[in-house]
Amino acid sequence: MMNESSLDVLTSLCKRRGFIYHSSEIYGGIPGFWDYGPLGCEMKRNIKEDWWKTTVRNREDVEGLDATIIMHPAVWKASGHLDTFSDPMTMCKSCKKLMRADQIWDIFDENEIGVTLHKLLDQSGGDPSKIVAWCKGKARGQTPNLPAVLNASVLTAAYEQLCNNNLTDMDAHTLYSLFANAGSDITITPCPHCGGELTKPRPFNLMFKTVVGPVDDEKNTAYLRPETAQAIFVQFQNVLATSRQRVPFGIAQIGKSFRNEVTPRNYTFRSREFEQMELEYFIRPDEAVEIICGKVTKLTDNPDISAPNESWGWEVWHKYWVEQRKQWVAQCGLPTESFVESVHADEELAHYARACVDLEYRFPFGLQELEGIAARSDFDLSQHQKHSGKTMEVFDETLKLAARKMDDKSRADFADKVAEKWRTLGKEDSQARDFVARLFEGRYVPHVIEPSAGVDRMMLALLCNAYEEQKLVDEKGKEDSRVVLHLEPRIAPVKVAVFPLVKNKPELYGKAREIFEHLRRRYASFWDHSGAIGRRYRRQDEIGTPWCVTIDFQTLNDGTMTVRNRDSMEQLRMTLSELKIMMDKALLV
Ligand code: ATP
Repeated sequence: MMNESSLDVLTSLCKRRGFIYHSSEIYGGIPGFWDYGPLGCEMKRNIKEDWWKTTVRNREDVEGLDATIIMHPAVWKASGHLDTFSDPMTMCKSCKKLMRADQIWDIFDENEIGVTLHKLLDQSGGDPSKIVAWCKGKARGQTPNLPAVLNASVLTAAYEQLCNNNLTDMDAHTLYSLFANAGSDITITPCPHCGGELTKPRPFNLMFKTVVGPVDDEKNTAYLRPETAQAIFVQFQNVLATSRQRVPFGIAQIGKSFRNEVTPRNYTFRSREFEQMELEYFIRPDEAVEIICGKVTKLTDNPDISAPNESWGWEVWHKYWVEQRKQWVAQCGLPTESFVESVHADEELAHYARACVDLEYRFPFGLQELEGIAARSDFDLSQHQKHSGKTMEVFDETLKLAARKMDDKSRADFADKVAEKWRTLGKEDSQARDFVARLFEGRYVPHVIEPSAGVDRMMLALLCNAYEEQKLVDEKGKEDSRVVLHLEPRIAPVKVAVFPLVKNKPELYGKAREIFEHLRRRYASFWDHSGAIGRRYRRQDEIGTPWCVTIDFQTLNDGTMTVRNRDSMEQLRMTLSELKIMMDKALLV
């Protein structure tokens, strides 16, 4: 398991070997923006390819979309992003640093002050003297604006409280707050950088603004999309009309998104420009399912969720997609035990959302969201219907035929039941009856399940998981070590490296080039003829190349070559066709 310092080692490997660089590095970089180098862009492409194949090509019920980054600004009004897509931002009145109000304690835990206070508490043995000594000494440099550092009476009041408390029960956050507030009636949250007072949090919209056309005024303001999903809703009717899909079906998109994050941090984890892989999977409202199937399958029915079924309600569809997404994450090489499912509590959900599950990965900096799977009701399509005046309803022939078979009494009972349920959700009776009348005609606005993943976060998780510094002992008992990225072969940037055993034998060299040229047409391949074979292996291990092929004198006689496996380091002799069969098997999704 990687810790925070090994993240630094990974960061430097990524720079050294050409996975990830700071954007605009020669000008000092720009926070929250990262460039992917030769190996990084191959790896990123592999992740997207795998997602696309699994989510779109290998399914008959999902179509693809590639929409623009800048859309009509009305899209963002309808989606709610203009009014509510914000983070609470606060500023330190002393050092003027800006930060997210909900990340103050995370920043504290990660920086020098937090680390020092955590350590001092651990080592105190219940005695506050060392902690107070820190406040009088080193804290002047580390956290100069902390009230207990500036003001002797605050420190005295804090000391008294520390003596009256059991220090072994105290955590570093409480201690830091105590140094800011002891003896005072007003409570301030101290700045995690300098101890100064923070301003009241205020919402900060995360969308990047831009101007369309030559005139820079309000009318021409547009936004870089903060998510790829909205384009899918906006193009819903076009895709429906031009594909042969019927609900339930999905539309998927991979593309860049932009968020002006207040504090981009943790390497590429929270960037300002990043890529998302999003699927909007449209389903029938439960009421339509009930008319068609006579019942709605719920999770309490313990359904088999390996393949979709017409009788599923939204709850089962949501669970199905959570499972599909977990399978994909595992298929990319993250062991199931390395991520957890975090179910949003009701009070954490947006008003329209019915459920949301995050898949969280144990990054070196803590358990953090890798992707989210939300059940969003018909909110998004309905919003666009309302704001654009264009219908987002579908016509469902199966539903209309099923409704036709109901007699008048069952129709009336059904309408009463729906109205009753909607009343408990605070909706008008007339709305419910209108909705049911439309259902009987086979019409409704589809509901949606949204699995939404980040390419950059997935790549960071895969790199963290793959990284290993291995101690080895060779056949002669000599100790050695290697750095290896245990990447899934499909995800690895280079699939196979080809080495001629020696470079000064033209026949052997020529054969090796011939094999390399053959392989590179099919797989991302790497040619290396310099240095000892052992050194060449190590260079490939460090970038996660699953197979290394050495062409030697025997190859000239019988066509076999040595194929070395990255993880087991086992070496086998095989022919070119045997190698291709083995590789194809491992690389197929
Ligand atoms: P967070 O709570 O971490 O800000 P979020 O809940 O706002 O994430 P969503 O809006 O659900 O994220 O976006 C879906 C996915 O897009 C996330 O799970 C993540 O993988 C990715 N993502 C979101 N914001 C960023 C970012 N700033 N940098 C990199 N990836 C991101």
